Amino acid sequence: MARRSQLTIAGIPVRVEPTFFVIIALLGVNPLDPEPLFIGTWIAIAFVSVLVHELGHAVAFRIYGIRPSITLHGFGGLTAGNGALSPARRIVVSLTGPLSALAVLGLPALWLDRSGVLSSVEARTIVSQVVWINIGWSLLNLLPILPLDGGRVFAAVADLLTGGRGRRVAEVFSVALAAVLGIWAFRSGLVLGVVLAAMFAAMNLSSRARARSDELAAQLQDAHRLLLAHRLEDAEEVVQRVLASRPAGDTLAWAVELGAWARLWRGDPAGADLVLRRGAPTAVPSHCYRAAEALAAGRTDEGVALMAWALANEPPGPAKSLGAVAAAGSGQAMAVARELLLIGPQGVQAAGLLRQLLEHAGYRAEALSVGQLLARL
Ligand SMILES: [Zn+2]
Repeated sequence: MARRSQLTIAGIPVRVEPTFFVIIALLGVNPLDPEPLFIGTWIAIAFVSVLVHELGHAVAFRIYGIRPSITLHGFGGLTAGNGALSPARRIVVSLTGPLSALAVLGLPALWLDRSGVLSSVEARTIVSQVVWINIGWSLLNLLPILPLDGGRVFAAVADLLTGGRGRRVAEVFSVALAAVLGIWAFRSGLVLGVVLAAMFAAMNLSSRARARSDELAAQLQDAHRLLLAHRLEDAEEVVQRVLASRPAGDTLAWAVELGAWARLWRGDPAGADLVLRRGAPTAVPSHCYRAAEALAAGRTDEGVALMAWALANEPPGPAKSLGAVAAAGSGQAMAVARELLLIGPQGVQAAGLLRQLLEHAGYRAEALSVGQLLARL
């Protein structure tokens, strides 16, 4: 559920989370000299500065026809916009944040600080706060580490250079640079630097892992489609590619099972068994696969009963469409459907699914027969 924004600036909704002020206050407190006046000015300056930074992003979004919204939270600010931008425009949007803070507040404050016109200690302290936040933080923000603005610029440039693989390059680079800076911060005794570096490294590593598992899942979907189209060698090739990148857990088990299906349908049950035992010895293949194995070995009664049980009881998944094809391929689709109707309401539902899967896989006649069987109920 979208939370309502608390204020609107030039038509741009802005939401401020309480954690923003908590973290800012913690960053501003000097334990040796907790001066209330300067904690107050620090919080106010940080609020205005982060807002100017985010408004810089927001204005750029608006120029490109995207409606932005701003959130200030515990780790600073975030300006989000619905819509995709070209890499060149992403570079502009990323740079306008830190450059706005530099131009609007940072450089004027630096000039004021250096000009010598400020006589009181209070005024000089406040101006130095403006300088620190708007120049120090802006420069830090331009480091090429995701999710900082500099990291986003780096990703967009890498996108242009690699033809769309920029995010991946930027994430790997972010981890490396965060590690180097983390070690440097540790040696320099900068605790906050170590914490930030560790946080950025962890964020990029987990994002990388997610992207990698998405890529493998997409490849396995391809292999599954190829199997359904009976392009067995192509399917095996895709499976080999996935296995070469050393997946683990469910991804490994499913890749190995798909490899075994391909072997089985190429008329090599012994090879299929070897694929399973070598590839994922502790994984249990789907009951649809075990049923297909029995059908391929000529153990028809066992295969039909097991296939019906699997279609009715196994959780939904891509193995069922392979099971339907195996049943049709061995001429047992109707036998499986009849067996399903004996199971009760769950079986009737599964028979409907079998009809759909057969239809989808191009076994029209078998799908029609199962449909007629269901119509007679
Ligand atoms: Zn920014």
